[in-house]
Amino acid sequence: MDKKLLELAVDLLKAQVSVRTMSCEDMELALLRVYNALHRMRRAEDDDKPVPLPGGISESPFIQMDSSQPIDPQRSIQEDRVTCLECGAEFRQITANHLRTHQLTPKEYKRKWGFPLKQALAAKALTKLRSRSAKKRGLPVKLQQYLEDQRKKKESEAPEASKNIAKRSPQRTGVV
Ligand SMILES: [Zn+2]
Repeated sequence: MDKKLLELAVDLLKAQVSVRTMSCEDMELALLRVYNALHRMRRAEDDDKPVPLPGGISESPFIQMDSSQPIDPQRSIQEDRVTCLECGAEFRQITANHLRTHQLTPKEYKRKWGFPLKQALAAKALTKLRSRSAKKRGLPVKLQQYLEDQRKKKESEAPEASKNIAKRSPQRTGVV
């Protein structure tokens, strides 16, 4: 039996006993429940551990890029940095200026490495921060307008059937 978990469970049970009256059976049951719950939690925690990468690739965030070992494009964009897939340099964001040194535009770069064109070539944290502050400044209004227009367009293209269902059948009360 896991001693630490058991101690934790006992502590929790003690807290329970102090606030309500429990029979011996209640206590036994509660202890079992708490212990099992703790055990499950710990198992879940253990299972959550990062799976070792195949091919012995180091998880070190400051891994030196080896040109003979191309990295997965999707992995090049990390929470706090983005790696240029052309030269392996790390940035907060990959600028068009930098890509020019590889004779690429951001568009060409994304196409070359299979990124969606709307993919921001910046650290995820930075992208998130940007979209948050941009919203505050109301910048994506045009974008929102565009999306709204698209939505309306889709709706107007939708089959008429849905509208007919919404229409109420004429009432037969005789009242005009
Ligand atoms: Zn580069």
